[in-house]
Amino acid sequence: MYDSDHISSGDALLIVDMQKDFCAGGALPIEGSEEIVPRVNALIEEAARAGAAVFASRDWHPRDHLSFVEQGGPWPRHCVQGASGADFHSTLCLPPNVVIVNKGDRSDSDQYSAFDRTGLDEDMRKRGVNRVWLCGLALDVCVRATALDSVAAGFPTVLVTTATAPVTAEGGAAALKELARAGVRKEV
Ligand SMILES: [Zn+2]
Repeated sequence: MYDSDHISSGDALLIVDMQKDFCAGGALPIEGSEEIVPRVNALIEEAARAGAAVFASRDWHPRDHLSFVEQGGPWPRHCVQGASGADFHSTLCLPPNVVIVNKGDRSDSDQYSAFDRTGLDEDMRKRGVNRVWLCGLALDVCVRATALDSVAAGFPTVLVTTATAPVTAEGGAAALKELARAGVRKEV
């Protein structure tokens, strides 16, 4: 059996969209994003000690992505493939064997969830993952969607609330309630 309070062997740590454009100075900065980087790094260390797999999703948009304001979407242009804003945060300490999950890489479709048509579910099963720890950005958008899909895929799912931040406080509070109802466990 696994330890319920810590990342254990057989768990996966899934870091959602810790990219420059979502942090200070980026195209779509999320308040509190800088503060959570050390906490995410601590989780990466914990995963390494446990021998747990580490996955990092990233928004990976073409220049004409439908989510951009120029295309009639809700967001300013962000995380364009190959642009520096799409890079992971400069002080994020991803391990060499991190598995990168690209999403939102088709012009005509957005993917808030790291599980949405990315093959992540299957990849985790192949690696024997039996529980998912979640952190990253943003709590009320991509972390929310990823957590709901993780539970729907049958993975016991833990959200580390001190290692995520919302676009809006109201959105974050609503997401936490919704995720609790869906069976996502919260840790700090
Ligand atoms: Zn996006």
